[in-house]
Amino acid sequence: MNAKHAIQLKETTSRRGRPEIVDEFTHLPVSRQRKWQLRQMAKGACRICGHPAISGGYCLTHLVHEREYSAERFGCKRANLNCKSRQMEKLVEANPLQWATMAGNPT
Ligand SMILES: [Zn+2]
Repeated sequence: MNAKHAIQLKETTSRRGRPEIVDEFTHLPVSRQRKWQLRQMAKGACRICGHPAISGGYCLTHLVHEREYSAERFGCKRANLNCKSRQMEKLVEANPLQWATMAGNPT
């Protein structure tokens, strides 16, 4: 058992694998998932999927999802029918090929 355990430790402490990303987020005391989110937002991409962001650090797909989720979460009874995400949804529905990458579904 000790020999097998020592081998596993040796493999985990080796210098193989992906090189470390060194930037302003490297030494923050947050998880690597949060660092990925911060890096995506810094380069103007969606913090969930990495597609180009429209507003608030989200692509259109996740902006709509966040709008619906937060409305349900906070118990909103009325909807802003002229908000940015709904306007963008209408634009995408009118010409889906032109806005395919903005909607988060490059096809
Ligand atoms: Zn997204």
